[in-house]
Amino acid sequence: MVAARREWALARCAAARLLLSGPRQAVLDFLCARAAPIVVEALVRELVARAHCHFVTVYRAVRSFEAAGILRPAVVAGQRAVRLACAGADYLVCEQCGRAAGVTDLAELRVFEARLAARTGYQIQYHWLEFSGLCHRCIRLNQMLAV
Ligand SMILES: [Zn+2]
Repeated sequence: MVAARREWALARCAAARLLLSGPRQAVLDFLCARAAPIVVEALVRELVARAHCHFVTVYRAVRSFEAAGILRPAVVAGQRAVRLACAGADYLVCEQCGRAAGVTDLAELRVFEARLAARTGYQIQYHWLEFSGLCHRCIRLNQMLAV
């Protein structure tokens, strides 16, 4: 899965003529390994600590990837986030804490996709699917706070 995401991202970089500098490489490696949406501030903190990137370069790398369609904007717990724009990165995200759960049982979605393609005559290349809600921990926390 990580290798497929990485391959996809590298192909998109090449198509967009985006050179992979050290910080861009670090951002891409981090996001390909993770795939779930991440708050931009948290991503910057991680990469400054982990890869010793300057925070400005990380923000710039994120902006370049967004412009090239490799990352797309998301919202996690009300904060600006990004996620890989490739297929196989479908997530259910908690609106309150940002915890993400992968969506893996996609058999019915594949059937829907095939029906949609047949009905419209389109060749579907990828989809973006976003679910948001509250995780079990936040539901429990909210119930405790309501008492
Ligand atoms: Zn939560």
